[in-house]
Parts: sequence; C-alpha cells; structure tokens
Amino acid sequence: MSQNSFNARETLKTPSGNFTYYNLQTLQNSGYAQIDRLPYSVRILLENALRREDGRVVTRQDVLNLAGWQPQESARQGMNFFPGRILLQDFTGVPVINDLAAMRAALARLGGDPLQVNPSIPVDLVIDHSVQVDFATPPQFGGVPDAMARNSSIEFQRNRERYEFLHWAQKSFKNLRVVPPATGIVHQVNIEYLASLVLTQYLDGQRLVFPDTLVGADSHTTMVNGLGVVAWGVGGIEAVSAMLDQPVAMLIPDVIGFKLTGQLPEGATPTDLTLTIVQMLRARSGGVVDKFVEFYGDGLDHLAVTDRVMIANMSPENGATVTYFPVDQQTLAYLRLTGRPPELVELVEAYYRAQGLFRRLGAPDPEFTSTLELDMGTVEPSLAGPKRPQDRVSLSQVQQKFRRALAKPRSENGYAIPPEELERRATARLNGADASLGHGAVVIAAITSCTNTSNPAVMLAAGLLARKALEKGLKVAPYVKTSLAPGSRVVASYLQHAGLLDALGKLGFGLVGFGCTTCIGNSGPLPEPVSAAIQDNNLVAAAVLSGNRNFEGRISPNTQANYLASPPLVVAYALAGTVDIDLTTQPLGLGTDGQPVYLRDIWPSTQEVQEAIRASVRPEMFRAGYADVFSGNPVWNAIHSGDSALYAWDPASTYLREPPFFLDLDRSLPPVKDICRARLLAWLGDSVTTDHISPAGDIGPHSPAGQYLQDLGVRPGEFNSYGSRRGNDQVLGRGAFANPRLKNRLTLGGPGVEGSRTVHLPDGKETSIYAAAIQYKAEGVPLLIIAGKEYGTGSSRDWAAKGPLLLGVRAVIAETFERIHRSNLIGMGVLPLQFQPGQNAQGLGLTGKELFDVEGMAELIDEHLPQRPQAERLLVVRAEGEHGRTITFQVICRLDTPLEVEYYRHGGILHRAIRSLLK
Ligand code: SF4
Repeated sequence: MSQNSFNARETLKTPSGNFTYYNLQTLQNSGYAQIDRLPYSVRILLENALRREDGRVVTRQDVLNLAGWQPQESARQGMNFFPGRILLQDFTGVPVINDLAAMRAALARLGGDPLQVNPSIPVDLVIDHSVQVDFATPPQFGGVPDAMARNSSIEFQRNRERYEFLHWAQKSFKNLRVVPPATGIVHQVNIEYLASLVLTQYLDGQRLVFPDTLVGADSHTTMVNGLGVVAWGVGGIEAVSAMLDQPVAMLIPDVIGFKLTGQLPEGATPTDLTLTIVQMLRARSGGVVDKFVEFYGDGLDHLAVTDRVMIANMSPENGATVTYFPVDQQTLAYLRLTGRPPELVELVEAYYRAQGLFRRLGAPDPEFTSTLELDMGTVEPSLAGPKRPQDRVSLSQVQQKFRRALAKPRSENGYAIPPEELERRATARLNGADASLGHGAVVIAAITSCTNTSNPAVMLAAGLLARKALEKGLKVAPYVKTSLAPGSRVVASYLQHAGLLDALGKLGFGLVGFGCTTCIGNSGPLPEPVSAAIQDNNLVAAAVLSGNRNFEGRISPNTQANYLASPPLVVAYALAGTVDIDLTTQPLGLGTDGQPVYLRDIWPSTQEVQEAIRASVRPEMFRAGYADVFSGNPVWNAIHSGDSALYAWDPASTYLREPPFFLDLDRSLPPVKDICRARLLAWLGDSVTTDHISPAGDIGPHSPAGQYLQDLGVRPGEFNSYGSRRGNDQVLGRGAFANPRLKNRLTLGGPGVEGSRTVHLPDGKETSIYAAAIQYKAEGVPLLIIAGKEYGTGSSRDWAAKGPLLLGVRAVIAETFERIHRSNLIGMGVLPLQFQPGQNAQGLGLTGKELFDVEGMAELIDEHLPQRPQAERLLVVRAEGEHGRTITFQVICRLDTPLEVEYYRHGGILHRAIRSLLK
C-alpha cells in the first residue's frame, strides 16, 4: 500500500462508521493538482496511483504525472494501474484458469510452491457464453415450450468437462467466485449486482475505502463505465497477471469529452442513441483508439444509468479504452433501483463527494483533450449494419442501403449479386406449408445481449410492441428464428410482472436462456429447409439482433447481412420478415381486419414505456434475482470436483489440455534475438478482427480443427464452438486464422478471395494456413504477419495472440493495432511492429514472397525504449525477394512501456510472473 509521501491518508466519517482513505484534496491543497480541472476518469486513475505509491512500481513522480494531467501532451508518460477486481466470462475464463493451472504446474516442476499462484484480488467468473439456441420457442418451428430447459440441458452435456474444471477452480483457487450457467450475462450481472462502486479492505486495522475499479477478460467490460466504474477489457494473459498483483501498464490517456444536451425525442430509443454515438466517435478525426471518452453536459441530468451503460458497453465498437460517465444522482438512483443495501449507497455518496469524484449539478466542466457534442433531440430510429457496428443507418434508409449493398462488389464490402439474381426467391417447406424467401429475408431475430437486455426501457418497449402486434393480429414470418435471451433473471421477472413475457412468447420470442446466445454467435442451427433455401440459391439472408457486433461470420454462417437494432425493432423486423422494406412507409402486414398495420400503429410511446417501468421494475426483483447468484443452479451444484492444488489434466480430454507455453520454461532470461529468414504466413488488409484471427463460433467439419476432432472420434454434432474449446491448444492452434471470411493476399486467387488459405514458399503451393505453418515449423522457418489498419479489432481474445504464436508467428507488422490486441501480442512474446506513417506493404513494393530479416532488436529493445520518441524506436526490416531484389524499410517497435519491454524479454507476461514467483 501507499508510501504516502503526500500525507494523503485521512479519515472519512460516514453514518456507517469511519473509514480511512487517500484524499485527493491533499494534492489540491498542496498545489500539486487542480482536481476540478481533471476529467473524472483521470481523478480515479490519480487515486489509484496515490494509494499504490510504493517508490518502485508507482513512484512519487508517477502520482505527479497524473496530478498534473494536461489536456494535450505531445508524448504521454507511462503509468501502472492496479485494478481492484477482475471479471471473467467462460470463453476467456477457461483459458485464464487453465493458464493459472499451468503456472502452478510449471512452478512445481521448477521447484517452487504451486500454491503461490492464487489471485490476490477478487475474481468473478460468469458462465454465460456457452448456451446455444438449439431450441427456440416459435410455434412455427413446431413449438418447444421448454426451450430454455432443453438448451440448458444440452449446454451442460456439451460443456461438462469445462464446467467440472471451473467447479474445481472455484474450490482450489482463493478469491475466485463462479456464477453458474443460466444465471445471466457477465456485464449485466456486473452492473446489476457485482459492482459496488466502492471497495473496502483492512489496512493497519482500519477499513480502507477506495473506488471500485476492474479489468475484465472481455472487451465489453466497459459497460460498467456507465455506472461510474473505471474498467476496461484486457486479454486473458493480462488478467492473469493482474490477479497476481502485477499492474496493468498503459500510457496516461488523452480524454475526449463528449457533451450531451437535450433529451431523446419520441420514437427514438437509447439503442438509437448508442448507435449514433458509436458512429460519431468512429468518425472523429483521429478516432478514439487508446483514449478515454468521458461524458459531460446537462443531458446527463436526464440520462438514466440504464441508458449510460448501453453507450459504455459499445466502447470496443467506438474504439475507446473507456467510455466513462461520472458518478452522480442518477448513479445513486440506479443503485437504489437495483436493490443495493442503503448503507452501501450512503458510503458511495459520502466517498465520491469527499473525493471530488461526484458530478454535482452546476459544477464546472473538466478540461478535455478535445470535445464532441450531441443534442439527443436529433437522434432518430436506427439500425447498424449490415457488416459493421459503426455503420449506422436510419430506419428509413435500411431498404435502400441494403439493396445497394446487394449489388456492390465484394471489394466495396457489398455482396456482388448479379443484376439478374437480385429478385431471386426460394421456397422453404416448413410445417407442411411453403414459405417464400428472397434476399434480405430475416431468418434470425434475436432479443439478446447485455447491451440491450440491461435496459428495462427497451425490453418493456419490445413487450409492449409485441402485445399491440398481437392485438392487431400480426404474426411473425414462418422462417424467422426468434429468441429472447436476457442478461439476468430480473428481466424475466419484470416482463412477467408487466404481463409482457407472455405477449413476447406468443409472437415466438420465448425465453431460450439467460446468456449471450446469438450475440456471441451461438444462434444455433436454422431449420434445414431454411438453410438449404439460402445456400442453394445464394441468398443474402439477414439477422436482426439487439447485440453489439455484426462482423462477418459471427452471428450465423447463414446470415451474410447482420443488423444491430433495439429490441422493439427486432420484433418489428421479425413481423416484417425482411430488411428489404421501408418500415417508415410500408406496412408490417395486414391485421385481422384486413387493414395494413404500420410500425407507427404499434410503436409504444415514451409515456407508456415509462409507466411500465414505474409499475414493474422493483428493487425486490433484483434482490430476489441475485439472492442465490452463486448457488442457484442445482445442476451446477451437483457437480463433483476435487480441490487439489495441481489440476490433473485428462489425456483423453478434447476440451482441456495443459497449454504448452511453460513446458520448456527456464529460470533464466533468454537473450533478445533478431528474426532471421522469416516467411510471411498471411498478408491481410484493414480491420482484421480477432474473429478473423481466432474465430469463436462454428468449427467446420473440413477445417483442420474439425479434422483433428474427428480423428479423436468427436462427431461434428459434438464439436461445440471454437470459443468453448479454448482450453485445448490443439484446436485453437488449428483455429488460428480459420475464419472462412479471411482474405489473404498471398492466396493464388488474390486479395478478394476468402478462406483460411495461404501459399507455402518457396514452392508456391496453396494450402491451409495451418498446414503451411506446420510445414514451416518443420523447416525451422519463423513467420510474420503483415496487416493493414486496426489489426486485431473486435473482442478481446488472448487466443488471437496465442493461436498465431502456436503457428510460429514471431512478429506482426501492421499499419495500426487495436489496443488490447497489441498488448496481447506482447503478453505472448509476439512482437508488434508498425509501419511508419504513410507506409504500407503495397506502397513499399513488397510481393509477400520475400525472405524477411528484422534487425537491430538486441540493441533497441531495452528498458529505455519507451522513453524514446517513435522516430527513434525503429527496427530495420530487410525483405529479400526473388532474384536477389531486396527492399529495406524501417518499422516502429510498439513496445510502449517499460513493463511491455520486460514482458517481451521474458517471452511473455506469464513467463515473467513465474520467474518472479521463483525468486
Ligand atoms: S457476447 Fe454479447 S451478450 Fe455476451 S458479454 Fe459479450 S456483448 Fe454481452
């Protein structure tokens, strides 16, 4: 704890007793900081540094750097941040726990005590990502009234090994709690229950209080920023490191101020506001990557926390590290609404006010690096898609833009449907009747995702719209797979109380589970006649979901067009059955009276929604919903597992294996060496996502991972998803770059061709990326990846770094990197290199067939590297082409902090942690 060289430790008197705390006002009183001037999010970082000042990892100068934060700086200093807790979900959590188990095994092998590996701060893991929509309730699919129970039962069968492993982990590791499946979605559980706004611990016999902060191994961890908690997504390896009391290294951020004024107009939802803000931040000159965004302005006075968290949730989509809303009266109201104990609310208010962390009405605006502004009165009903979350499209333009995309070439992100096929229709026979589908047919309509299901306003709006649609006699088109998967049981309680769960169910939106489902790509299979109609006729079918990601291949292999929309619009498009419609002018269908019914006829008013909230959303529902949050699943409770220190991996398991990363770990530090005679494994374009690098969804039966599983006797129906098999390095190594939508310029077909293919050199034979990597490994050839802008954008996945490492990739040269992915690469010992501004592979005249040397590493990569300006952090790349033609260029070494340099030198973040535990 703090060296306290600023004498900042003081006593806070509250109605619930006295607490000790590190008072930010001390810095103000001694002239080191002008607290009111700092963005609120920076004040939280400052408190963290003040409290953790130890003269070593956090120095007095580090505190002063934050205290003197300036809106504009040409070169920001590095900083170390100690989160108060860690959040995990099961897709990333299983590999994280597997890494911890492997570290224990490595420590034992090297003569250390395996029990030294234990989280030193609270860790919560919510099992939410594995449930799939195998069964949905739509009557048109024959009606499965117990869909949720059946999905849950299949989920347990599929994931038995993983769940037994997590059950062992919760007993074997201290400070780890597991929220069992069928309880809720990680970020919604976090905002509704886990986040307490303040954390306490004993210090010298006194209760120390400090702000609740966290990092999570999931990019949407930022959702809790809407509640005033500074938090962001990190890779699993960084999460493990933070658990072991290692700081998260970063640069002191720029903070972009986002001023909100006005109020949403009638007809617009908080989802529309969220999509508008994502688009604005994406379009900002210079973007917001690596920056904090903080909201201010009198619009906040009317903006409920349930709306704020939606905006904060989509931080990965807008690109910012953190999308922060300061704590204020709305925050306290939300804590009360969600049934938090009154003494906690009291302490939160007392602490945040005492620290100057509470946004008071009329308080001066902080200073920001730059600002944006939105009058919420101008927001209009919107969707985002069909391929990227930042591509907002007004409701009135969906049809027009979809039609345009159908005809556009693939190189312009279109679907390249020839003119003579634009009006093509296909027939699917369902329940004894023929249904006709064309391009734009909505085959998936899913109310899903923590982004939206956390907000009673949009959930109740969906229910009210469903009830009105039923009253008019409207029906959902027979080929639409509809589902309702809320992020907590509380949603079902208030929908039930309002009488709307039934209305949604009658339209087909019955409960299918409490988990991520379609949002993470677990949309489950479509009826065979529907998928056959799509595939046989090359139809561009659509999904409309209330999620936050719609990258190609994520939602379903059968839907090439994927639109994000508010829950009521999801219901509306299910009724319309197509996105090839203008819902502002064309009817949804005919009512029982034979008259056309328009969206405006059944759209609930703001007043109706607010009345439904007032009548049906109660604190006692939250208290009851979370009373047994860790023990409310009897199937989970019935799992038998041991609590041994070392995990006994089952050699026959196809889900869990000891990862190979520490098997050959040596006590001593390896020397940094140049990369010599490397080949390019893939040459990729802009916006390559972690879904492209390490897909989470379907494992194809003919893919290398599918073949491997079949060789082990696993049938395709039992494959489960890549995400659920991240505890098996053999599957994930084979899954690296296995996304069928990957475009690798090295393939013989050229840049536009999709597939997990590459060319092995020098023989020039085209093969799968995995097969080429294995061949290169046998030949002792190190590998590189070349990429365009925003490499590694998307969900935080350390497997997107681990997978390429397993294939032999030593460095990635990109035009720019996504923040989390760059750290993940370093965390696994893969070097991120960046083309100099204005340069790229094509401009330099590379063909991709060269032999590459990266030179000067031993001289450059030392602890002084991050202090140098980028222009002095250059490594030489020598690319020797055919006939001896050599192109030489320089790249920026993107090890940005002293800790990153250390991680890289150790071969990875966890390697360093093991070596320090051995000391
Ligand atoms: S997959 Fe979707 S629903 Fe699940 S945590 Fe991520 S954003 Fe939320």
